[in-house]
Formats: sequence, C-alpha cells, structure tokens
Amino acid sequence: MELHKTQQLQIYNSLSKKKETFTPIHEGAIGMYVCGPTVYSNVHLGNCRTFLSFDLVFRYLKHLGFKVRYVRNITDAGHLENDADSGEDRIAKKARIEEIEPMEVVQRYTIDFHNTMAKFNALPPSIEPTATGHIIEQIGIIEEILKKGFAYERNGSVYFDVLKFNESHQYGKLSGRNLEDMIANSRELEGQSDKKNPQDFALWKRAEPQHIMRWTSPWSDGFPGWHLECTAMSTKYLGEQFDIHGGGMDLKFPHHECEIAQSEAFCSKTPVNYWMHANMLTLNGQKMAKSTGNNILPNEIFSGENTVLAKPFSPTVTKFFMYQAHYRSILDFSSDALEAAEKGYNRLMDAINQLDKLPTGNETTMDIAAWKQSCYDAMNDDFNSPILIAQLFEAAKFINSVKDAKASITAEDLATLKTTLHAFVFDVLGLQEVAAGSQNTGKLSGAVELLIQLRNEARANKDFATSDKIRDELATIGIQLKDGKDGTTFSL
Ligand SMILES: [Zn+2]
Repeated sequence: MELHKTQQLQIYNSLSKKKETFTPIHEGAIGMYVCGPTVYSNVHLGNCRTFLSFDLVFRYLKHLGFKVRYVRNITDAGHLENDADSGEDRIAKKARIEEIEPMEVVQRYTIDFHNTMAKFNALPPSIEPTATGHIIEQIGIIEEILKKGFAYERNGSVYFDVLKFNESHQYGKLSGRNLEDMIANSRELEGQSDKKNPQDFALWKRAEPQHIMRWTSPWSDGFPGWHLECTAMSTKYLGEQFDIHGGGMDLKFPHHECEIAQSEAFCSKTPVNYWMHANMLTLNGQKMAKSTGNNILPNEIFSGENTVLAKPFSPTVTKFFMYQAHYRSILDFSSDALEAAEKGYNRLMDAINQLDKLPTGNETTMDIAAWKQSCYDAMNDDFNSPILIAQLFEAAKFINSVKDAKASITAEDLATLKTTLHAFVFDVLGLQEVAAGSQNTGKLSGAVELLIQLRNEARANKDFATSDKIRDELATIGIQLKDGKDGTTFSL
C-alpha cells in the first residue's frame, strides 16, 4: 500500500494562511508548478533555497508514493527590470552589455542553473518549459481574456483590467492586499503609459524598435508580459486546476496575484488548491543583494573563493544547513552556522556508516517504530525538515550508544532503522555521502590521478583511442585534464 494512504500530510496554504489537510484533485497523483529562474545571471543562493525547498517537497511526495508531475519553468523572455511592466527586458539588457545574442545569455545561465542544482543533488522537474516556447499559448490566453472583457488593447499593448476584474472577483486575496488601499497609495501614471490604471498589468507589450526579443501577434510585434507565461505553462501541463503552486515569498505579489487573476478571468476557475512560498535567505543578518555586495554565489561557497566564509563548504553540507530551518522561516547564512551544520552532517554520516557494523542483541532499547513515525510526523507537518533532522540525530545518538554497548538493538529493528535512515537522509533530504568534507576530495584526487596514470601508459603505448576516451569521459562528468610541461593536471 502506498504510504500516502497512511500518512496524512498537512500543508500551510499561503492563500488561506493556515495549515490544511492535503487532498489531491486526482487520487494518488499530484500536479505541482514552481516558478523557475529568469536566466540572465548566475543563480542566486536565495533562489537555490527556494528550489531546494521544493525539491524536498517533490522528493517527499514521491516517497509517499504519489505520482507527481512537477513543472518548473525557465523565464527566457518577458521579465522586465521593474516588475511593474517597465524597464528593459532583463535578458536583452544582459545581451546588450555583453554584446551577445539574448539566446546566448539564456543558454549560458540555464546551464549554470542546471549545473548548480545538480551539485545540490536536486532532482530535475518532470517538465521544464520555457516562455519563448509558449508564445502561441500565451497569445491564445490573451485573446480569451479580451473576449471575456477583462483586458483592453492600447497602442498595440494589451493590459489586464484589474478594476474591472475586481468588480466580480477578489484581486489581492493571496497577498492580503486590498485594491482600494493599492489605489489610494499608488502614484499617478506617467504620461507615456497606456494603462488605464496603475494597478493594471501587461499581458502583451508592443516592442520598441530597438527591442530585439519580439514576436508577431494580433496586436503588434511584441512580447508577452512576465506573469502570463506561468499561467500558460501551468494550464497547458497541469490543467486549469492543479494541486500545488510554489515559489519564493517575493513572488506572491504581484506575480502570483496576477497569475490567479489571469486564470480566473481566462477559465473562470481558481487555478491552485495549495499555494506554498519559501522564505528568504539573509547573509550575516542582512538581506542578500548584489547592489550592496552582501551576496555570495553557490560556486563561491563550494570553492571557498569568497570573503564571507572562513573555508569552502560542499553542496551537500550547504543544503543540509538550509534544511535545518523550515522553508517558511527566514534563514541566516554565516560561516559559524555552516561550520556547525558541517559538524552535524559529519556526525550523522558517521552514524550511518556504523550501521553495518553494529552488534545486534535480544532486545531493542529504543522504540524504533515510534521513532520512524516521528520522522513521518515531522514531514507530514508542512515538510518540517528541522524537526526531521532532530529525529535523525536522535537515531545517530542511539547508534553510538549501541556501538558503545550502552544500548542494544535486535537484527529486525536494525534493518528498519537502516531502511528508514537511508530513506530520509538520501531519498527525502537528498543528501549525498560522497561530498563529505576534504577526505573525500582526497579520494577523488586519488581516483583521477590513477586515470591520468593509465592515460599516460596508453599514450606511451600509442593507444590513443584509450587515452582520448579517458580524457573525453572525464570531461563529460566535469573533470578537465590539462597537459602541461610538468605533466597532466586536472580541474573540476
Ligand atoms: Zn511564475
């Protein structure tokens, strides 16, 4: 029997602002959409936290035996510098500065994003659609919203009519904003804006002559508004109503609020049953921001090339650190906190490595079944990873006591303990044993050195097929060999 039939999951729904018992629309199957990155720069650590939070959700839902379709988009057009429909397209701007094609920007930073998520051992989503791959669907939705009377065209651009929508619907229900307050606090529209009201948002924007990312539409050569892509892609792959929609807290308004309005206007249905938002990461107690320099990139953590942390930390330790806070809490990133996480992580791995060597006896001095259920209880309570990790440490303590002959365990309970620990540590948290600290880096170096030696022997025997194969195969897993006058070196 699937675990989800016995384990009852509670999810904090940002829309109702309370924990709710989770019931999927279709029994046993879940549709989940998470807003992905805008690929115009290296992925931020704060964004990584959001994606890792939803990786945990994805992994736990799968562990419970649900069939999950997880859709996470790539924003490769339409996201302007200012979330309120003004400024340059973020990707086009980067392309202009670097004198390359916008799609080169997209390619470069999509690869960076994928590589970084792979280092964190995050599972890829089931579908990863792009905004530019769904222009036709976006145009179709705009036509439908225009037909329903919730949008208007001005000079080749199409805007969502928020005031009109609010007459029959509730705009602001997710973010807890009230339209009257928004109107009272809004500034006058600038002269060049085509909008009727400052609260309206673009569904389609006519492109200025210098704007290179443009597509043909019934209204103008232009580009879709940023909010629309998520409505188009979630509807296409998950249907008009689906179970879970996630994203960073900063996307609640206006992005997710606009998604709800678009969907309700387009198909007269509330699109999402459970809205989930991951909280932000601070660095040494301050908001992370590129502009203030209070910022660190994932690769700078792994390599140690930064001015913030005392030493490098592996992706798995960094992730373990993040999971020691609940996804809805603000988490502060600092050298001391990471060092403490690393010690804890090593303690946990040491305990897991003891499992196969533990002596078994006639009785178990810990209630293993109750402990196992407490691990599920933690995750069933809105994916409470810090409580889960505390339970894992309880098990580690017990393992050490058995090792020191201060406690005992039967063979049967040991098997349960091992399976459960492995399931939560490796499958649910997605931690990896390999990258634990420097001794494993040493093992990796040893292995690569051995391959370099074999390659040198092959070359000495003029067996270039083998020597090339070693070099190329290492390159495909991200290990570059470099031949110099002092021999061959490698880099990751
Ligand atoms: Zn989105």
